[in-house]
Amino acid sequence: MRPHGVMFHHFNSEVHLPGQGSISADALRAMIEQLGPGRILPASEFLSRHVRGTLAADDLCLTFDDALRCQFDVALPVLREFDLTAFWFVYTSVLQGQIEPLEIYRHFRMNCFPNVNAFYRAFEETVERSEHADLAAMLMEEFNPRAYLAGFPFYTDEDRRFRFLRDEVLGPARYHAVMERLIDEKEFDVNAAARGLWMDDGCVRELHAAGHVIGLHTHTHPTRVEHLSADDQRSEYYENYAYLKNLLDERPVTMSHPCNSYNATTLEILSELGITLGFRANMASGFGGALEFPREDHANLVRRMTLAA
Ligand SMILES: [Zn+2]
Repeated sequence: MRPHGVMFHHFNSEVHLPGQGSISADALRAMIEQLGPGRILPASEFLSRHVRGTLAADDLCLTFDDALRCQFDVALPVLREFDLTAFWFVYTSVLQGQIEPLEIYRHFRMNCFPNVNAFYRAFEETVERSEHADLAAMLMEEFNPRAYLAGFPFYTDEDRRFRFLRDEVLGPARYHAVMERLIDEKEFDVNAAARGLWMDDGCVRELHAAGHVIGLHTHTHPTRVEHLSADDQRSEYYENYAYLKNLLDERPVTMSHPCNSYNATTLEILSELGITLGFRANMASGFGGALEFPREDHANLVRRMTLAA
């Protein structure tokens, strides 16, 4: 095995309601106990061992993607209990007050539907009533749940079908149009939902001051970076870099790939920026580069802990 990260996204508490894939402070505590707090390196130690070439095969680090407020509120106090620091991969448009659809859509799914499959059904029905119905029907014939996103074992067939429809059939512009229509129909208040979803500049500064390592994650979090032109990829990462460098008065040297999406151009751009350590979003083998460290999704750890219990 290669030294790797554990990847976290959503946490729940009384303030941050539970949702798909979210875990509580207690679950995080149990997970850290099971991994072995002594085996988990402080983020800066993982980075400096990487730079010196002294990382051992079973070295581990913790990583938090997407600048989520629930991570700051729920996970950070648990890390403090264990005296641990982590990598935080921050997309920066939300620090400027922009509302990015990614989290809004998740919040919408959780609040307006009894479960995620009910949302998937409503979404597909909205596509079927749209001008993209014929295209979607044609392309969905190619969909094979066993082959699509095979590196993510915890996705259900319904998750795969939705992701295929979103990313391969519709693409970002048409997907957003369909979602806007659905959100309007449900009279969901986007501005109200946006409050409390993301960290602000102060949170990121506080993490940095406490010894955590802050890294890149693009500016606006596209779900398919690999589909962007070289220019668009460059502006995503340069803008992200400039914002964090200015905020923290330090050059970022780490990153993670949003939705595990990148190509050779992305890696060149990251090298231009002097990024020395990057993380993928799964444990797939065959990627040995310094910008392609594997990460275990916490969902896999939860599954294993449940099986073992
Ligand atoms: Zn992300």
